[in-house]
Amino acid sequence: MLTDMHIAVIGGDARQLEVIRKMIELDAKLSLIGFDQLDHGFTGAAKEQMQELDFSSLDAIILPVAGTNLEGQIDTIFSNKKVVLTKEQVEETPSHFTIYSGISNAYLDGLAASTNRKLVKLFERDDVAIYNSIPTVEGTIMMVIQHTDYTIHGSKVMVLGFGRTGMSVARTFQALGAKVRVGARRSEHLARITEMTFAPFHLNDLEQEVQDADIVINTIPHLIVTASIISKMPAHTLIVDLASKPGGTDFRYAEKRGVKAFLAPGLPGIVAPKTAGQILANVLTSLLSEDKARKENVK
Ligand code: NAP
Repeated sequence: MLTDMHIAVIGGDARQLEVIRKMIELDAKLSLIGFDQLDHGFTGAAKEQMQELDFSSLDAIILPVAGTNLEGQIDTIFSNKKVVLTKEQVEETPSHFTIYSGISNAYLDGLAASTNRKLVKLFERDDVAIYNSIPTVEGTIMMVIQHTDYTIHGSKVMVLGFGRTGMSVARTFQALGAKVRVGARRSEHLARITEMTFAPFHLNDLEQEVQDADIVINTIPHLIVTASIISKMPAHTLIVDLASKPGGTDFRYAEKRGVKAFLAPGLPGIVAPKTAGQILANVLTSLLSEDKARKENVK
């Protein structure tokens, strides 16, 4: 239980609703900022304005997955009001205060460092990334079905990168009957790819490997599907780029060559916001419980 913990949930999308639900269930004292247009009235949580929030009593804030922009502004899809998190506000918080965010940027990193407060980037955690790979793969399947006129079954699917997302993509497409090849650069990844019965190749050989690819799914957040790689692909190849913006594909060249290529960010929040929210809510529950235990030990 999170009784006696004062937590502010600030901005965000439908995923935050699952977080709010869970925090209420766990008896936290909740302040909701950026939810004034949300019809749903959460019993046991107060909708407040940022300027009304008592930062000195806060144990934690939960930001949306994207955190803030480079000026500290927080996206709020359930409000038209501008919400900004400032250094002055964070300085008012108790020393054990924690900022939870999906990802971070220079502003948020700077804010945490200059105020000496803990910043937890949830998406950097293996557990969150692995759980998130489940809705990501389902979204990828949806995109591939929408943009092809052939079945996944029997298609030559090339997965680039064998991290937390790449592994789930490869496994699921193979289960659907695709012929899956996986490109990586580390020898231990190539070994694991072989052990999992995918066809391995070194990324140095990408140019030769793409020559008969039907579908290329990139998870590497660096330019890897270059113009020269795209020029070797069959015209019907579909590229789905899952890597964080700007992706790892030369989209300008793909368009020029008439190869269909899509950057597909934020799939969990699009195809399964409820599940994606529950993933965050579950991880936050255990992290905030640890925060609560630490706070009580200090008392
Ligand atoms: P990860 O576990 O860190 O895996 C990244 C993979 O890329 C690793 O295999 C890594 O290999 C490889 N890689 C990184 N830099 C490389 C380079 N310069 N050259 C060759 N290989 C390189 O990350 P992840 O959790 O799978 O996420 C992958 C990407 O997908 C991230 O950008 C993430 O933000 C994004 N993502 C998008 C969605 C969506 O909805 N579109 C959902 C989840 C994640 P090494 O180990 O050799 O570095």
